[in-house]
Amino acid sequence: RLEVQSLRRVFDGQPVVEDVSFAIPAGQVTCLLGPSGCGKSTTLRMIAGVDMQDEGRIFVDGKLICDTVFRVPPERRAIGLMFQDFALFPHLTVAENVAFGLKGSASEKRARVGELLGKVRLQRHANSYPHALSGGEQQRVALARALAPRPGILLMDEPFSGLDERLRDDIRDDTLALLKDEGTAVLLVTHEPHEAMRMADEILLMRAGQIVQRGAPYNLYNAPVDRAAAAFFSDIN
Ligand code: ATP
Ligand code: MG
Repeated sequence: RLEVQSLRRVFDGQPVVEDVSFAIPAGQVTCLLGPSGCGKSTTLRMIAGVDMQDEGRIFVDGKLICDTVFRVPPERRAIGLMFQDFALFPHLTVAENVAFGLKGSASEKRARVGELLGKVRLQRHANSYPHALSGGEQQRVALARALAPRPGILLMDEPFSGLDERLRDDIRDDTLALLKDEGTAVLLVTHEPHEAMRMADEILLMRAGQIVQRGAPYNLYNAPVDRAAAAFFSDIN
């Protein structure tokens, strides 16, 4: 479970994230949805620990991991990350990429890598290098790598944006199935209402640094908070 309270971030005197509070229960997918520049990635970076908030607190499973004076470093937060450019290690094989963040004995690692490559249907590419894979396959390797150490929480920033439009819905569905299977709590950043509608248990609608509406996808779709929210959702077909 992830909880953030009253996060605020100011750049050059301008608040870009203001009074952002939410909680993500175990096993739930929450989408942080909003237009370009509204502060989504900034919010994610503070939770990951690669940027620090000016105000507010972050908790994982009830334990404080960051406020304005105390800060657990990113690698000790038990939070996984997956960004837009999957950034696989080009000199490592698929299996080595997935094993990268794993601890334990060689046989334990082998078992976990095998399990995940099975789940993303890439066993036969275990010894391939990333450049030999399609974009969709690389995305699956990146997902397997992010999930391998069993992070309780996974942060995903526009994880499908580099992919062919025609493949995206299938990849979204496969990704969601795997996330549910692993029981990972997810905060997924997107600017596409369609993606949030398809994947989210809960949507946090963000605008100009603030969360303006939150709830189940159909609630936001059926009862948008204002005209701008209605217009945003009206693009969905
Ligand atoms: P997008 O959908 O385009 O990725 P976003 O919602 O992720 O947008 P952010 O990247 O969080 O938006 O940026 C929010 C605002 O903060 C933008 O106006 C951006 O220019 C500004 N910003 C982000 N990082 C910095 C920084 N390091 N220094 C100054 N301004 C920044
Ligand atoms: Mg962004």
